[in-house]
Amino acid sequence: MKRVLILGATGSIGVQTIEVCENLGYQIVGITADKNYLKLFELSKRCHPDYVVINQQTGYNNLKEMLGNHVLFGTEGLKEVISESKADIIVNAIVGSAGILPTIEAIKHCKRIALANKETLVGAGEMIMKLAKEFQCEIIPVDSEHSAVFQCLDGQKIKKIHLTASGGPFLGYKSSQLEAVTIEDALKHPTWKMGSKITIDSATLMNKGLEVIEAKWLFNVDADKINVVIHPESIIHSFVQYEDNSFIAQLGAHDMRIPIQYAFTYPDRYENNFNVMDLVSLGKLTFQNPDIDTFKCLGLAYDALQYGNTMPLVLNAANEAAVQMFLEEKISFTKIWYLIEKVMNNHHNIYTDDISEILEIDRITRIRTFEGGNKCQ
Ligand code: NDP
Ligand code: MG
Repeated sequence: MKRVLILGATGSIGVQTIEVCENLGYQIVGITADKNYLKLFELSKRCHPDYVVINQQTGYNNLKEMLGNHVLFGTEGLKEVISESKADIIVNAIVGSAGILPTIEAIKHCKRIALANKETLVGAGEMIMKLAKEFQCEIIPVDSEHSAVFQCLDGQKIKKIHLTASGGPFLGYKSSQLEAVTIEDALKHPTWKMGSKITIDSATLMNKGLEVIEAKWLFNVDADKINVVIHPESIIHSFVQYEDNSFIAQLGAHDMRIPIQYAFTYPDRYENNFNVMDLVSLGKLTFQNPDIDTFKCLGLAYDALQYGNTMPLVLNAANEAAVQMFLEEKISFTKIWYLIEKVMNNHHNIYTDDISEILEIDRITRIRTFEGGNKCQ
C-alpha cells in the first residue's frame, strides 16, 4: 500500500485526490491546508492521517483543540510533514506560488510528486526541473492537458504540442462585452468545477498561458512548439504532433480523478468507478484559434516565456494579485491584464535560481500589483 501526503487537501484537487486514494486503497499519511480548519477536521475524521498541517494561527488553535497533538503549524509544520511522513507520493494541490517552497522540499524527500500546482513551474520551472533531476524525483503532471501530453509521449522527438482550452465562459466575447462581466459570470466555467482562482484564470485564458509555460518545463520544448487550440467540449485533453505529422491525443470525461490516479499509478493503469465518457453521445467536437487580441493574458504569457528569466514569475505573481482584487470586487475583469502588463513592463528582468530572491520578487510584484489596482479604483 502506497503512502500519500496531500498538500492543499481541502481544495478541489485535494478532495478529489482523497477519493482517488480511497479507490486505490492508498494510505493518506498527511493533509494540509491554509485556513479551512473545519474542512481539515472533517477530512481528518475521514482519512485518519498521521499529520495535519494548517497555515493560519486561529485555525491551528481551533484544530489543536479538536484533534490533539498531531496538528502542525505553518511553513515549519509543512516542512516537518514533508520530511517526516515518509510518503511515497506527495501531491501538491496548493493554489498559487505558495506551492513553490513545498515542491522544493518534496523533491528533496520523496521520489514522486503528483504536481497540480502549475504556479510552481511557472515561477521557478528551470530550478525545479534541475532539482528534480538531481534528487531523482519524478514530477508527474496532474493538470489534465499535461497529463494528456505525458500519456501521448512515445519517446520520439515532438514537433508540436497542442494544448486544448475550453475557452471559458466568455468564449466569443469582444473586449467591450468583457468590460461589464461580473464575478458570478466569470466563475461559471462551462465544463470543469474547480477552485475560484483557476476558474478566473480560465475565464481570462491566463490558465492556458500558465499551462504553456508549465508545458515548456515539463516537456523541455520551446514556446514556438506549443500551440493553444480552443476546444469548447473539453473532451480531447491535448495532442502531441510528431515529425511525421501524426497527431496523438488523449480523451476522457471531465473528471480530474482520472489524471490524478494516473499520476499515482503510472506506468500502470488501474480500474476505477469515475466518470466514463460516452462516445456516442459526445456529438460534434469543434476547434478554433484563440482570440488573443481580446484575451490578452494568453499573449502576455507567451511574451513572458520569450523574455525568460524572472518574467514568468512576475506574470504569475501579478496575475495572482490581480485575480484576488477582482474576486474582492476591487477591480473590473479587464483590469486583470491591464495590471499584469503594467507590472511586467516595469520589471527589471534578471536571472536567478536563488529561492529567497525568487520569493522576494514574487512578494514585491504582488505589492506593486495591489498598488496599481488601488489606483484604478
Ligand atoms: P482550491 O482553491 O480549490 O484549493 C487550494 C488549496 O490550497 C486549499 O487546500 C487551500 O487551503 C490551500 N492553500 C491556499 N493557499 C495556501 C497557502 N498560502 N499555503 C498553503 N496552502 C494553501 O484550488 P484547486 O484545487 O482548484 O487548485 C489547486 C492547484 O491545482 C492550482 O494550482 C490549480 O491551478 C491546479 N489545477 C486545478 C484543477 C482543478 O480542477 N481544480 C485542474 C488543474 C490544475 P484552504 O482551503 O484552507 O484555503
Ligand atoms: Mg488544465
